[in-house]
Amino acid sequence: MSSTLESETPLTLARWQRELASAIRDPAELCRLLDLPADFCAEAAAAAGQFPLFVPRPFLARFRRGDPSDPLLRQVLPLAAETATAAGFTPDPVGDLGATAAPGLLHKYRGRALMVTTGACPVHCRYCFRRQYPYQTSPRAWADWQPAIEQIEADESISEIIISGGDPLTLPDRLLARLAERLASIPHLRRLRIHSRMPIMIPSRINDELLQWLTGTRLTPIMVIHANHPAEFDAAVESALARLLDAGVPILNQAVLLSGVNDDTETLVALSERLINLRVTPYYLHQLDKVAGAAHFEVAVDRGREIVAEMRKRLPGYAVPRYVREIAGEEHKIELT
Ligand SMILES: *Cc1c(COP(=O)(O)O)cnc(C)c1O
Ligand code: SF4
Repeated sequence: MSSTLESETPLTLARWQRELASAIRDPAELCRLLDLPADFCAEAAAAAGQFPLFVPRPFLARFRRGDPSDPLLRQVLPLAAETATAAGFTPDPVGDLGATAAPGLLHKYRGRALMVTTGACPVHCRYCFRRQYPYQTSPRAWADWQPAIEQIEADESISEIIISGGDPLTLPDRLLARLAERLASIPHLRRLRIHSRMPIMIPSRINDELLQWLTGTRLTPIMVIHANHPAEFDAAVESALARLLDAGVPILNQAVLLSGVNDDTETLVALSERLINLRVTPYYLHQLDKVAGAAHFEVAVDRGREIVAEMRKRLPGYAVPRYVREIAGEEHKIELT
């Protein structure tokens, strides 16, 4: 997928850009590197379709070799089940298209608006609710963002901008710095929130250049990361998170409840423990959005409620995420417990 916030190709690539460029895109290579049976590769190749396989090597290093049911592998491996149609699973399950306030700008909830800055990601999550989002309709060049910026300027009820995508941290720092500065010049904005899987997928992304623009304006920065399983953390991820926190950026985590990945109490308790030990606050546990191609990840809401009830008995109150579902047209995410 391509960038939608215009970028020039820099002469030298940062480490994270090289790691992004060297991501695994070929199912056969993935199977070879993980010692997986050949039939897995064939199925993955057939199912990759319009949403190709994409796995960065720093993340791959945390997979269990030779284990077809590894919960990290399951998040990224295309399966034949994706091509089956399932009742109620649609291309735009959360009403993104109806919430477009200006090209690239989604405004659903009072006080905050979300910019879809790019369609590029450091990983392709098979359950992604934006796996079918029409990124080509989002602005590309800086000038194309003017209507969205003007819309934000005109609406004084907005105090927080969420920079999202895709993954906004796939964009170069020079561009993100320009965007942060432009947003900081809008008097009624107070907070800049980044939604990104980069700190988990390619932890070298958290570098000096990023910290500079993220903490260098008058806007209060907030980072929302996305980890679903405790095995997603290693020493490099931990130090990336520590750098953000030590620079004064609070970090929240959102996870998606996923069949075969984290739909058991042990795993989600371990995830929360890991997060709070790293000073990251568990924020949301999302019920799967019913996006076409992801039905095999669905966990029944009653089962989700059971798991969260068990989590409450085993964790400090602040370590239990809010179990929520997004319903198109509602004024906030809906709590399920
Ligand atoms: C989920 C979402 C938000 C953020 O909601 P919070 O409850 O503030 O985390 C904001 N805008 C859009 C369009 C969203 O989908
Ligand atoms: S990183 Fe986020 S936007 Fe990208 S595929 Fe994963 S869930 Fe979707």
